[in-house]
Amino acid sequence: MEPRSAVAAGRAFPYTARTTCYIEIHRDGRVTHGTDRATYERAVAGESRLYAVWPGNWSSDLFMIDDLDEYAKAHGIKHDVQRTGLADHVHRVRWTESDGDQNPRSPYVDVEVVLDCGCTIESLGVFAAQMREQKGWAVATSVGWSRCSGPEGTTYSLRVRRKSLAA
Ligand SMILES: [Zn+2]
Repeated sequence: MEPRSAVAAGRAFPYTARTTCYIEIHRDGRVTHGTDRATYERAVAGESRLYAVWPGNWSSDLFMIDDLDEYAKAHGIKHDVQRTGLADHVHRVRWTESDGDQNPRSPYVDVEVVLDCGCTIESLGVFAAQMREQKGWAVATSVGWSRCSGPEGTTYSLRVRRKSLAA
């Protein structure tokens, strides 16, 4: 079976879908299934070739990952403004503690965040990593977060570790 081209599949290619299974074929014939930075770097260096199985309704197609840049952006190995909504800069962040019930015993505080730099948060994981670097914040990424768009812009509700806010 000839692998198809992920590039030809375009934007619809489900790089990060849970059902997409990656196959890395190393030069020595070994097969692994990672999607980490090392996988990307080996593929870029030509030390391995990367394929993905995109399961369809009736059959699964094998794709060649022929745009490694797109792959790296999808997996957060390379920063992608379009996917994350976040520029690779120091954000201008306005924040307040949320009104309403805050559990004083919780290690986390609910905060309302506004981005004055014009960014939007499409990827909480990437925003959390940026805020850790820029402000020392420990943003909870495993709990729900929300956005509220109004005439004054978009406000995000996030949970941040209390101690990291004070720092
Ligand atoms: Zn920004």
